[in-house]
Amino acid sequence: MSKPRLGIFSLTGCAGDQLQILNMEDELLDLVSRFVIVDFQEGSSYKEPGEVDIAFVEGTVSTEHDLKKLKEIRERSKVIIAFGNCAIDGCIQSMRNDQTTLAEKLQDVYGVEPGFFDALPSKPIREYVTVDLQIPGCPVEKTEVLKAVSSLLHGDLPQRYTYPVCVECKINEYPCLITEESKPCLGPIIKAGCNARCPSLGLDCIGCRGTVEGSETFAAEYKMLLDLGYTEVDIMNRLRVFSGELAAGFLGGNNNE
Ligand code: SF4
Ligand code: SF4
Repeated sequence: MSKPRLGIFSLTGCAGDQLQILNMEDELLDLVSRFVIVDFQEGSSYKEPGEVDIAFVEGTVSTEHDLKKLKEIRERSKVIIAFGNCAIDGCIQSMRNDQTTLAEKLQDVYGVEPGFFDALPSKPIREYVTVDLQIPGCPVEKTEVLKAVSSLLHGDLPQRYTYPVCVECKINEYPCLITEESKPCLGPIIKAGCNARCPSLGLDCIGCRGTVEGSETFAAEYKMLLDLGYTEVDIMNRLRVFSGELAAGFLGGNNNE
């Protein structure tokens, strides 16, 4: 049987998810030997045209160039996996989408008018193409990537985390930082899969794996943190760091023009 053709593509982002693959020193050679790698920008300048069986796509659509590239990837790929939180939720680039316009951002950051370059409001890839699967994280977890690749090679779907960090926190019997210390932990609304890394160190979760689907849960967490004395600004600024799109939706505005 021929090897599956794998593309690891990058849009606008820090490329930290691709770097996580390169950081798999012990597994990297075995991993790449299982595929024909048709594109891996962070690892090699080699590129191969043609059909892609599995496409990992990291980053947000933040320019017209990103959008054109994403549509081309969709056309040639059987399966697209949103790889990391930029691709899934917009992450850092979209943190102020509900607070300022693209024109204001271009002026504040680059001192230029819209049209100076082909910028678009930073958006997750699902805004433009159908996404088949996702691997969350900022950056992605190495072990999760390996498990996902293993599942795909066996014709299975990678694990989906439909429950929050709190579940892993309680399995490990860590004390709750909200109820015990009134810290603004985002564990109740954030996808599990990190084994509650931050609460294990006494640190409250800041949401790097993105939110579990379901805005009702966020409404409950929002009220709980308000009751503890945090302000709307405190709560929304915390949520915006990794989940700006949810913050924009929750407050009912998305100021992207
Ligand atoms: S510390 Fe955070 S993750 Fe752990 S149970 Fe409390 S709210 Fe959930
Ligand atoms: S910020 Fe939250 S999701 Fe990210 S590693 Fe820490 S506990 Fe896990």
